[in-house]
Amino acid sequence: MKTGQINVQTENIFPIIKKFLYSDHEIFLRELVSNAVDASQKLKFFAGNGEFKGELGDLKVEVLLNKEAKTLTIRDNGIGMTSEEIDKYINQIAFSGAEEFVQKYKGTEGAENIIGHFGLGFYSAFMVADRVQIQTLSRHDGSQAVQWESNGSPEYTLTEIEKESRGTDIILHISDESIEFLEKPRIQGILDRYCKFLPIPVLFGTKTDYVDDANGEKDENGKVKRVAVEVENQVNNVSPAWTKAPADLKNEDYVSFYKELYPMTFEDPLFHIHLNVDYPFNLTGILYFPRITENVEVQRNKINLYSNQVFITDSVEQIVPEFLTLLHGVIDSPDIPLNVSRSYLQSDGNVKKISAHITKKVADKLSEMFKKDRADFESKWEDLKVFVQYGSLSDEKFAEKAKSFTLLKSTDGNYYTVEEFKEKIAAIQTNKAGNTVMLYSNNPEEQFGFVKNANDRGYNVLHLEGPLVPHWIAKLEQSFENISFSRVDSDTLDKLIEKDEEIPSLLTKEQEEELKPLFEGAVNKEKYKVQVESMNSNDAPIIITQPEFIRRMMEQQKVGGGGFFGAFPETYNLVVNGNHPKIGEIVNAKTSKSKEKKVKQLTDIALLAQGMLKGKELNEFIERSIELV
Ligand code: ADP
Repeated sequence: MKTGQINVQTENIFPIIKKFLYSDHEIFLRELVSNAVDASQKLKFFAGNGEFKGELGDLKVEVLLNKEAKTLTIRDNGIGMTSEEIDKYINQIAFSGAEEFVQKYKGTEGAENIIGHFGLGFYSAFMVADRVQIQTLSRHDGSQAVQWESNGSPEYTLTEIEKESRGTDIILHISDESIEFLEKPRIQGILDRYCKFLPIPVLFGTKTDYVDDANGEKDENGKVKRVAVEVENQVNNVSPAWTKAPADLKNEDYVSFYKELYPMTFEDPLFHIHLNVDYPFNLTGILYFPRITENVEVQRNKINLYSNQVFITDSVEQIVPEFLTLLHGVIDSPDIPLNVSRSYLQSDGNVKKISAHITKKVADKLSEMFKKDRADFESKWEDLKVFVQYGSLSDEKFAEKAKSFTLLKSTDGNYYTVEEFKEKIAAIQTNKAGNTVMLYSNNPEEQFGFVKNANDRGYNVLHLEGPLVPHWIAKLEQSFENISFSRVDSDTLDKLIEKDEEIPSLLTKEQEEELKPLFEGAVNKEKYKVQVESMNSNDAPIIITQPEFIRRMMEQQKVGGGGFFGAFPETYNLVVNGNHPKIGEIVNAKTSKSKEKKVKQLTDIALLAQGMLKGKELNEFIERSIELV
């Protein structure tokens, strides 16, 4: 037996490891299983290059829980370690054998599959164990098996032991503060999270279930002896879809992998993107476009980040741009620094490149889909639009690419690109200032009258709805020349698209002045600004409109952003069509009582048309109307 000091700078490294190395104690298991997988991969590698001539056998990693003995064992039949190797790789901590291995065999096929380079990986065992044993037998012929043991102080012992089988057992004696890691569901949960796609089979065995011995044999205390039942389940899928070549996968394979990733999701994804880059960084993965549901936030942050098939994290905000966090799927890159702080990630060059690359891939995929099958793309647009709008608003490069596949839906159900639509309507919807005015409705049902009036004039009306629309159309107005958007109920048609010709007024200035206070008396003056206009006599006698800029401000305020100081008052225009015969009747009415009555009735009808007549007012209107019959 040999005793010695673990080569660390300070006596106190273990408390530091315990407390600060990882705030998340559960990752000790990821580290140890990763080491075991590495040990197996290395053996495969040595078998491949002829350095190892023995039998590989069934390479596997076993995680064995023994609640009674308070131990958790991570067992592999990989390369094992000699006592010299233990000295080098374990006693001189901060020395990463994986790093050395990759350096030495760089460029050789398979070498980069070594997970390692986590640095202090093995020592994270002391976050949950107060005693750790390594029992190991090296792959070399005639090796002596050894056991290393430490209780978390810098002292260790190294003893020769009997061990028949090649490979390593890491035995953790779980500390009293960490007994949660003796619970089967807890360990199962950690394995499911971190080890689900490791490239070597990982089996979870429990010795926690005991049954009475059939013979009722008694132990020395007179109690019925019980026999341990060991249950082993394989935890992982060793070759997940993203590690395969796209040519070897059918659409069903992608869908079934999606279900494997998100067993709780019932909807199929819209489509996927298979990422496969090896220069200037390594990256593989599959990204899925989910069907966007009402509750966007629930769907966010579902991308899982892996490094050589080891799960790292599902908070990928630093690696993918914010708008892409709506996507689902997997990104696997050994080039992303793992156990480092978020602020470091933000400034890391590779991370930036990865983020830009993914954005580009996503835009290219959409553009390709649009070109390849326009009808199919249109059928998906309602699900894609929030994403494309969001992307265009948050990423300039994406916005530029998206110009070619951004669609506008018209109220008659057709889809146009912005350019196509502009061309279609330019002849009649261009105003005197030379701007092509894109009229839209966010709710053609509610704004039926407005849409119909516009259509009757030969104007085309778009159907644009969704939380991002106010921001997004402002963005389109910037990106495309000479276009502007106006909601169809934001002004009278003549004002919405101002032409040179003016409609002469049938009323005198005095008559117009006389009308104004009459209407102001019928509504709340603060909320409704009354104006008398000379419009087409076929247009409605009264129209309630909300100026485009006021509504946009209010909507943008609601979505957030837009930079507002205080709440914006909700105001409308009450536009009186001076040329309408009914308005003429009011002007000519004999008594002020009859004037008031007509004003009230017409105003209520206009409010009703906008869905703004509610409660008491609505009830009074109904009663008055019944009397009229
Ligand atoms: P890293 O994995 O980052 O190299 P660790 O502290 O986890 O750092 O492990 C140090 C070294 O110990 C490994 O690189 C490897 O050489 C050796 N090692 C750890 N676990 C095993 C194992 N199960 N089988 C063989 N060697 C191992």
